[in-house]
This record gives sequence, C-alpha cells and structure tokens, in this order.
Amino acid sequence: MTIPADSPTPLLGLEPEAARTALTEFFAERGERRYRADQVLEWVYPGAQTFDEMTNLTKASREALGRRFTLAPLVPEVVQRSNDGTVKHLWRCPDGEAIESVLIPADDRLTLCLSSQAGCALGCVFCGTGAYGFRRQLTAAEIVAQYRDSVRYAQAHGMGAITNIVFMGMGEPLANPEPVFAALTILNRGFRVGARHITVSTVGIVPGIRELARRPEQVRLAVSLHAPNHKLRLTLVPVEKRYPLPQLMDAIREWVRAKGKRVTFEYTMIQDVNDSPALADELAELVCEFHPLVNLIPMNPIPFVGWRPSPPEVIAQFRSRLERSGRVRARVRSPRGSDIAAACGQLYNQAYEKGLAATARAS
Ligand code: SF4
Repeated sequence: MTIPADSPTPLLGLEPEAARTALTEFFAERGERRYRADQVLEWVYPGAQTFDEMTNLTKASREALGRRFTLAPLVPEVVQRSNDGTVKHLWRCPDGEAIESVLIPADDRLTLCLSSQAGCALGCVFCGTGAYGFRRQLTAAEIVAQYRDSVRYAQAHGMGAITNIVFMGMGEPLANPEPVFAALTILNRGFRVGARHITVSTVGIVPGIRELARRPEQVRLAVSLHAPNHKLRLTLVPVEKRYPLPQLMDAIREWVRAKGKRVTFEYTMIQDVNDSPALADELAELVCEFHPLVNLIPMNPIPFVGWRPSPPEVIAQFRSRLERSGRVRARVRSPRGSDIAAACGQLYNQAYEKGLAATARAS
C-alpha cells in the first residue's frame, strides 16, 4: 500500500520510542510542554481509538493531533459469534482491503489469532487464504489495531482479557518481517503483552526464523510442518522448495539455542495424505531432538480441494505413535467456530465471493 506523503502518521504503527519522539516534536512545534507526549501515549497503549478520548488534552490539541496522526486503521465490517464462543472479525482497512482476526476462548485463556498479510502468496494447498493468493502486506498499525480493537470487543462483550496472541491468521508473518517485528515490539513494550504470551507461527521462512532468533523479544515460535519429508512436504507446502527441511531444521536449532525455549510444531491432518503410522514415526524421528509439542490439526475442508480431515481414530493413532518415543508431546487441536467459518481465510473468502472485498477495493 502506498501512503501519500502528506497522510497522517499512523501512531499505532510506531514503536513506542519513535512514537514518543514524533509526539514530542509535534508538541514542541506547537509550543506545548514535552510531557504532553507521554500523556498521549498513556491513552494510546491502553487502547484509545480516537483522539477525542484523550480528555486531559485541550480540544485544540486533540484536533491538531487528528490532523498529524491517525489512530484508527481498521473498521469492523463483519462480526460473527460461534456457539462455542469463538468470535471472528472481518476488518476493513483504509484502502478497502479486508482482513480477519479470531478471538478463541478456552478454559481460563482468551487467545487472539491475528493476520499479518491480506491474502498469502505461499499457496499451501489445503489453505483457504492461500487459495485466494496475495493481496498486500499489512502495516504494523493494521496488525496492532487487530489486537487493540479486539481487546475493546472482548471487554464490551464479557469475554475478559486477551491472554495470548498468535500470528496464525491470514498470511505468513515472516514474509512480512518489518511490520511484524515492529508489531511485536509495540505489543510487548507499548501494550505490555508478555512476549511469552505471543506466538509467531511460520510455515518455514528460514531467514525470518533466524532474524527472530536475534531479536530481543522472547516470543514463542510455532513451525507448520504438515509433512516429515521433503517429497511429501513439497506437494503440500510450496515454500519447501525454497527452504527445504534440512535448512529449516538448522534455523530452528539456531532459534532454540538463542532463546532456550521449546519450539512447537503444527501438523494439519489430511485423510490418506499425511496421516499414516509410518509418517508419524518419521515425524517423531525428525523433531524429537527438540522435545517439542506437536499440535495435530484436523484439516478444515475447503470447497475447491477434495481432501477431508483425518478421522478422529486415525488422529488418535497418529498421536500415540508420535508420543511412543517419549520425546514428543502431541495434542489434538479441536476445531473451533465451525458454525461461523472461523478457519483462516474462510470469512474473507466468503466476503470476497460476495463482492464485499471487491467493493472495498473499488472504494
Ligand atoms: S497456511 Fe499460512 S502460509 Fe500457507 S497459504 Fe495459508 S496463510 Fe499462507
């Protein structure tokens, strides 16, 4: 997205130090005291959506702030609430692009799954987002706003506080590294979300994993494998061609060494494609050095792919084979929000097909 030079600066997308500098300069130009910058940030990080909420500033200051900066990059287009409490938002971006995020309540946790790109270029063959291709990168402000506005929604609807953030919505976060890394800093140092409560999920972008290893934030890493060998993975996850498994495993080793944490693996279970006992053994062999958690995720059926999720008994058998070595822990992730199209890209795709996104683009 090209932002015209004279457009207001998206304050939410600046890392806290940069935001403070920009605000300090702004108030200095106006002949106002420096502490005003901190006053504004004390509103921004709990989650102000407008400058009008900043009632300890004068009306003239608020109006001037609104001309120089912007706080509201997203408008809720559709909100769907599932019978199981899952809530999905389809947000409208300033240029009309549409993106999704999902609130997932479970036990004493409330997890926000957010998007890092509009669409996705990586084309994993079982993925609803990938099927519609890449639209554009999200800005840091658009990523952070999904969190800020979801916090507001959760508070207003009795869902409690968001306890965890996962970058598992639309897009591949490490294919949009700068805005995603800025968003991690803003969420962690601005909104004070503990880095251990943030998970970046990647399908295997090796340079991004290495960069994540070098970053100061102690965020968690989840790697979507979907297959334990090069040949099968190539048919499911095209990025395997660019970053084959040996390179990916090396990058994970580097991340584990740097962070001293356990990596999580994600494995979408597709009937008769990647769910045989032999593949479970191969997967255990591949990942056991990390003593990881492996999440087994029944595939979300998508209309234009004939594949089905593996049956529960096959997943249970796969899980027990994986755990046989004692060095791998496996868990079956139960599908959530199936009555509201909560899988990655589904709501966007529905909106797209109805012309919502197309209308948005035109506007
Ligand atoms: S699974 Fe993730 S990386 Fe693969 S196409 Fe879908 S959004 Fe992109």
